[in-house]
Amino acid sequence: MAAKYIASVNPKECVSCGTCVKVCPSGAMSVYKGVFAIADKNRCIGCKKCAKSCPASVISMIIKEKTDEKELL
Ligand code: SF4
Ligand code: SF4
Repeated sequence: MAAKYIASVNPKECVSCGTCVKVCPSGAMSVYKGVFAIADKNRCIGCKKCAKSCPASVISMIIKEKTDEKELL
């Protein structure tokens, strides 16, 4: 079953520490060009480990269906 929630990083606040990349069990997180973290919504399983471990608290869990909707607009 697809994840209901997925991680979403606020790129302006991310300090690119890489913690979320290390704790993510599905390899969904990466640090884009060394500047900010980004979650691959197709790999994220919604476990929230990244959000709980982010020292800057810049990861929110959002409802996945909403992101799919956005792409259609
Ligand atoms: S743990 Fe938080 S601050 Fe660190 S790279 Fe990930 S999103 Fe950015
Ligand atoms: S919620 Fe879990 S699976 Fe998704 S990006 Fe964060 S650590 Fe990875």
